[in-house]
Amino acid sequence: TIGMIGMDAEGYLAGSCTTSGLAYKMHGRVGDSPIIGAGLYVDNEVGAATATGLGESIIKICGAFLIVELMRQGRSPQEACQEAVLRLISKNKGIKDIQAGFLAMNKDGEVGAFAVHPGFNYAQATLQENELIDSKSHF
Ligand code: ASP
Repeated sequence: TIGMIGMDAEGYLAGSCTTSGLAYKMHGRVGDSPIIGAGLYVDNEVGAATATGLGESIIKICGAFLIVELMRQGRSPQEACQEAVLRLISKNKGIKDIQAGFLAMNKDGEVGAFAVHPGFNYAQATLQENELIDSKSHF
């Protein structure tokens, strides 16, 4: 999955995501990416979030929506992504070795990211610089 979150010069937020789905997926399977609230959610008054990883685990917690709602309650994007990962782990105990990661931005332009396992990185572009950043992870 490639998930993108952006803010324009006037502070408007936008997001998009694209995915090829999982390898060897069941015919007809719908992952998290095309489901608003799972793989992507944007509320221009609060923030935006997107997800990658095992879609079933992300759908189960309404991952992107959860993160935006946590930011609405005052969590930073980083805290919200980390809490979503904890929720995802606790709601998917039966599934081994899940990888999932979240990326979020709030209305102030602060960015956060968190994954279950290492290996989730993201590119951050500002007017000043472009950076490739390794997200923190639970394990
Ligand atoms: N989230 C996608 C899906 O489950 C997979 C991916 O991240 O590439 O369909």
